[in-house]
Amino acid sequence: MIRIAVDFDGTIVENAYPSIGKEQLFAFETLKMLQRRGFILILWTYRAGRQLEEAVEYCRKNGVEFYAVNRNYPEEIYDETISRKIDAEIYIDDKNIGGFPGWTNIWAMLFPEEANVDAKAELRALRMRKKSFWNLFRK
Ligand SMILES: [Mg+2]
Repeated sequence: MIRIAVDFDGTIVENAYPSIGKEQLFAFETLKMLQRRGFILILWTYRAGRQLEEAVEYCRKNGVEFYAVNRNYPEEIYDETISRKIDAEIYIDDKNIGGFPGWTNIWAMLFPEEANVDAKAELRALRMRKKSFWNLFRK
């Protein structure tokens, strides 16, 4: 089982915290395809309380129900003996070094053999942009 920890603000939706931004292109399509392929999705977000509930509900309305939210498994109860870091194989977060690659590119990274020609071209373009890392912070 491959566990993927997925961030919310800036990753599933555009960052408008504490509001909910617009869906990032293909976010829910990609997450649903990953679930269909047996990946375990864990929501891994800074949100808590009501803002967290709103995010979870927004994802549910868009067809994505997470295995767990801000924990390793649904019943997990945190105390000082348990690390706060989620144990996952893959982390998808807009704060990754290199920035958020977009869901098309995430899919292409996970399944390069299935990436269409356009996605591969996008991936190449992204690699070129990454050569100038600080360009990511210029709008
Ligand atoms: Mg984020």
